[in-house]
Amino acid sequence: MIIDKYIKPKTIEEAYSILTTKENSQIIGGGAFLRLSKKHISSTIDLSNLKLDFVTETNNYIEIGAMTTLRELEINEITNKYFNGIISTSIKNIVGVQLRNIATAGGSIAGKFGFSDLITALLVLDCKVVLYKTGVVNLADFINQKNNDIVEKIIITKNNLRADFQSVRNTKTDYAILNAAVSKHNKNFYKIAVGARPGIANYAKKAENFLKSVDFSVQNAEKAGLIASEEIKFVSNFRASAEYRQELCKTLVSRAICNVNVSSKKSNG
Ligand SMILES: Cc1cc2nc3c(=O)[nH]c(=O)nc-3n(C[C@H](O)[C@H](O)[C@H](O)COP(=O)(O)OP(=O)(O)OC[C@H]3O[C@@H](n4cnc5c(N)ncnc54)[C@H](O)[C@@H]3O)c2cc1C
Repeated sequence: MIIDKYIKPKTIEEAYSILTTKENSQIIGGGAFLRLSKKHISSTIDLSNLKLDFVTETNNYIEIGAMTTLRELEINEITNKYFNGIISTSIKNIVGVQLRNIATAGGSIAGKFGFSDLITALLVLDCKVVLYKTGVVNLADFINQKNNDIVEKIIITKNNLRADFQSVRNTKTDYAILNAAVSKHNKNFYKIAVGARPGIANYAKKAENFLKSVDFSVQNAEKAGLIASEEIKFVSNFRASAEYRQELCKTLVSRAICNVNVSSKKSNG
């Protein structure tokens, strides 16, 4: 990566103005992923002066500033209090503490990486992305849009859903071969997301609909896992074949469904 100019704006307005007026300019979060690229960036816009490093809780929401590190998200009391700690579980295997001390929540969302563990986990929560110019966008829409905007923060509705995250890696700190997250709102209302396919996470809508019509049992969880594995598209790469990912999907999804039905390992606030 070659950077011509490194700018630390004092306001978000200034950051946005540089982003949209200077050709080949780019926001930098932790820079952990950006530095691996061969890009030539004219102006790199560092957001670290903009007070976007926070995790706060209001009556209805958890708010996570874009410059919050993954390590902070992993150990933060607020994020750990809700949703059976799914945020922490989803990121705790990303490389090591040193990298998680650098990589940011904003960069992890804005990067829209296919291998993302955090996006898969957040997709099963009621999660919105706040963009400086565009405003509030559902995470599920955001990951499928092109934006030239700044992620300011992530907002998660504080509801009492139970959630679980699963992943399989060749080694503990490698990218996931497949990841899956499941949440359960009330008796039969589930959200199921499967990611690192190796593409970005998709919802398993047919499996979610199947679960709406049945009571929980291990057999029905396995059936939902099978349905998810048939509706989600998998691709082969050097980490794993599409067929292997499809097999893993059955197990990860059914295991996560079982866990949200029996899990009491962490309270929901
Ligand atoms: C070696 C390595 C291994 C990894 N393994 C995993 C893994 O197993 N699982 C996983 O989920 N992740 C993994 N990651 C990704 C990591 O978790 C982060 O998601 C990634 O580093 C991006 O965060 P960052 O703060 O470094 O963003 P940067 O590298 O700074 O930026 C990434 C992209 O986001 C844009 N961006 C950054 N912040 C904003 C913002 N606020 N608004 C708009 N755009 C913005 C940048 O312009 C850039 O395009 C890995 C990363 C590395 C380097």
